[in-house]
Amino acid sequence: MKLRLFFLILCSLCAYLYLEAQIEDPKATEVWEPEPRVVSPGTGTAPPSDAIILFDGTSLDGWTNGKGEAAGWKIADGAMTVVKGTGDVKTKRKFGSCQLHLEWRTPKEIEGKGQGRGNSGVFLSDTYEVQVLDSYKNRTYSNGQAASIYKQYLPLVNACRAPGEWQTYDIIYMAPVFNDDGMKVRSGTLTVIQNGILVQNNVEIKGTTPYIGLPKNPPHGKGSLRLQDHGNPVSYRNIWVREL
Ligand code: MG
Repeated sequence: MKLRLFFLILCSLCAYLYLEAQIEDPKATEVWEPEPRVVSPGTGTAPPSDAIILFDGTSLDGWTNGKGEAAGWKIADGAMTVVKGTGDVKTKRKFGSCQLHLEWRTPKEIEGKGQGRGNSGVFLSDTYEVQVLDSYKNRTYSNGQAASIYKQYLPLVNACRAPGEWQTYDIIYMAPVFNDDGMKVRSGTLTVIQNGILVQNNVEIKGTTPYIGLPKNPPHGKGSLRLQDHGNPVSYRNIWVREL
């Protein structure tokens, strides 16, 4: 019995010393596999090598209006601009979780105020709106200003440039997960960087982003990226996405 106990203690001591020896070796905590694949960055805000280009300034071929017909917005000087009354435009291709880059510009000529000034929006999965608005010295409700998750989260700061200037959004969207019964089992999240400034930090999406009423959670799979026609001639350019 004493002999067994002696061996047990000896084995434990050996295991401990072995693990200690392993931990003292820096190689013990190195991970070599898998090796992350190489992606070549773009220059400035140009798309990286593995991005899907959604709009390069020349064509709306990858886009439709809300009815699936040709998108009615106009293209000029490498940008697409809302044509009032033609409706939202959305990508033919559908996406779930993704990293999205786009650039937007509200009109230099200031017209309207509050929600009526330079209003548009970026909808992830065709459903969740990151607000686009001319929020430069233009007060409105905080959870409806630029870079808000509409009626859910106000932006951490107001990072808006002046009207007529191009601004960037870099959005990390993790789509919500629904089970086979259509119940949401994991909320989606959004992180938004506007003009290089963090404005939404991994917030949990509460559901749809309606003008009136509370968020709802209808189940969905992948969806189009949609840009809003809110009646103001807001422009977009350099839109690319990386699926996550
Ligand atoms: Mg909007």
